Amino acid sequence: LAKSQGGNNYQFYVANVDQRIRESKVLERQLATAVEQNQMELVFQPQVNLVSGEVRGAEALVRWRHPDRGLISPAEFIPLAERTGAIVGIGEWVLKACCYALKRWHEAGFQHLTISVNVSPIQLHQSDMVATVKRWVEETGIPAQHLVLEITETAVMDNVDLAIKLLKNMKEIGVQLAIDDFGTGYSSLSYLKKMPMDEIKIDRSFVLDMLEDPDNGTIVDAIIQLGHSLGLSVIAEGTETPEQIKYLQECECDVAQGFIYCKPVNEESLLRFLSQQSEKVKSTTHHSGLPH
Ligand code: C2E
Ligand code: MG
Ligand code: MG
Ligand code: MG
Repeated sequence: LAKSQGGNNYQFYVANVDQRIRESKVLERQLATAVEQNQMELVFQPQVNLVSGEVRGAEALVRWRHPDRGLISPAEFIPLAERTGAIVGIGEWVLKACCYALKRWHEAGFQHLTISVNVSPIQLHQSDMVATVKRWVEETGIPAQHLVLEITETAVMDNVDLAIKLLKNMKEIGVQLAIDDFGTGYSSLSYLKKMPMDEIKIDRSFVLDMLEDPDNGTIVDAIIQLGHSLGLSVIAEGTETPEQIKYLQECECDVAQGFIYCKPVNEESLLRFLSQQSEKVKSTTHHSGLPH
């Protein structure tokens, strides 16, 4: 039966691929105007200090509210935007929106908060990137050191010498730099030492099963020790259980982020979470770093 339908299957397959290409062309065109159509949105995920239990800051994560398809995840549209160049406009919008968001949080009384913004390697290589960051920092008046730019390990490692130069220019504004998804790329430790980094983010894939897979447990511990020996702060992403938090605290990890504390939420929910959390921290004498 399969054989006799082989020809049809093949045609079906071609038609399918054809349709998918057409669909992705449509998506591409829609993505090009998504910013001007106000279709980009930000959600925020708190980052919790593992010693004090206080919220240190939040990472901004972009979403695309598509007119017919609803919310589209960045995992789907960021790679597309990077291929078409739409990432430049999206990235600028994200940066500006984040500086204004942080200004509001500081005005709401959460002056210690930082905001972490994901930066695509394409953005990093734009000649006016430093000026763009500087512009929004100055226009909003936020303290530059409260803006954390997250750059993926693979982005940095593509061209190490150039990356070091670009990142040093960025550091001159006074922003903080974090290396995202650490452990997934192929960074050499000697390069890491040369990078003007402030923070390492341990990739979720190691955190996910570090208690079940002793190798990953060892890797997580090693990344934390390495980070500290280079004078960097270390943050674990994707923490989901109290046991993971306990292990990270034993390894003296500095900060954690993950569903155990809060999923990425809109600004209103974030502010509510912040108020609740600061009440809790005030009312507890023994901080466990765990949500209560
Ligand atoms: P990322 O920067 O590594 O962000 C962490 C991702 O892990 C987020 O997915 C977040 O929702 C998810 N996550 C956080 N905690 C947990 C947890 O406890 N369990 C699980 N299973 N997942 C958790 P999201 O929002 O889908 O973002 C995916 C990626 O898209 C980000 O990875 C980042 O690389 C990229 N991205 C997001 N926003 C932007 C942006 O504004 N610009 C750029 N260039 N990339 C962005
Ligand atoms: Mg990130
Ligand atoms: Mg990450
Ligand atoms: Mg990751």
